[in-house]
Amino acid sequence: MKDSYGREINYLRISITDRCNLRCVYCMPMDGMTFVPGPELLTPGEIEDVARAAADAGFRKIRLTGGEPTLRRDVVDIVERLTHIPGIREVVMTTNGLRLPWLAEPLAQAGLARVNIHIDTLNETRLTRVMRLNTLDKVWAGIEAAEQSELVPIKLNVVVTRDYNEEDVADLARLTLEHDWHVRFIELMPLGGPAEIAFNHYVSTRESMDRIEASLGSLFPLNDGDVVGEARLYRLAGARGTVGFISPVSDPYCDSCNRMRLTADGRIRLCLLSEEELNFRDALRGGGTHEDLVALFQRAVWAKPKGHQLQDGIHPENRTMSQIGG
Ligand code: SAM
Repeated sequence: MKDSYGREINYLRISITDRCNLRCVYCMPMDGMTFVPGPELLTPGEIEDVARAAADAGFRKIRLTGGEPTLRRDVVDIVERLTHIPGIREVVMTTNGLRLPWLAEPLAQAGLARVNIHIDTLNETRLTRVMRLNTLDKVWAGIEAAEQSELVPIKLNVVVTRDYNEEDVADLARLTLEHDWHVRFIELMPLGGPAEIAFNHYVSTRESMDRIEASLGSLFPLNDGDVVGEARLYRLAGARGTVGFISPVSDPYCDSCNRMRLTADGRIRLCLLSEEELNFRDALRGGGTHEDLVALFQRAVWAKPKGHQLQDGIHPENRTMSQIGG
């Protein structure tokens, strides 16, 4: 399915909850968040209906995200439903890993292909500040559980935030020397509530690369230096894993964007960094047929904007990342 700019759109990220068991400093304030009331979240059956329509509209890959997707008690059921849909080739998940020690195996049994796990630093003190989590062991246990259940290759997501963890990028990149992991550094984006932090604490990919190379030696580009998915990939000499950089601010990849998002309250978000949304849940709950839902996806894909407008000073203010689905 092509959008009006000729891009193939085949990847749907579904936020199944806007709640989270962490309060990362750039994502969610400590207090004052209001969450989507339970009855307004899509049920497993509704998520399946959405995904069947998405598959018939041409989507091939689904990522479950949030908030923290593993907080949903029915997360295994949701995964199982999605992995059986004809046309959907891969169901994956983005998580902070804290609940994986219990859930990795059932999720793998349900057909989940792999996980991206979020970890911003290996330093316990700074972990408390940036992810507001008191111990690294909990994330580490999640990573190990994912590996044991073969939710691989493991991707680790690091959001680089000045004054919080910009000094830690080399330690995180060093993990790829010993582990077959993909460690990806993400530029902070201005979104919703804590947008101010993105303006004041942004660190460019160039700066993170310089820090890593100063400490660990050259980063050798893979895939001719082209963007793969959303990241440019590199390898340190002799490393088992790769180091990736996702640079929506300094090196936007809108031209090759292949994705759409469904928010926890059932809106199709046409672009992460634009406020445009279509209300899918109303169509679903208002008696829309499967064909209506397929048509709504097609409409959404056609209306997808060419790219974000951060360079013109325009950023979305209506939702935080946790509400959209990161
Ligand atoms: N709870 C899961 C997690 O921690 O990965 C999934 C949801 S979280 C919103 C998804 C990703 O978005 C995380 O890697 C998080 O660090 C990232 N994120 C949140 N706010 C961001 C921002 N303003 N800019 C860039 N990445 C952000």
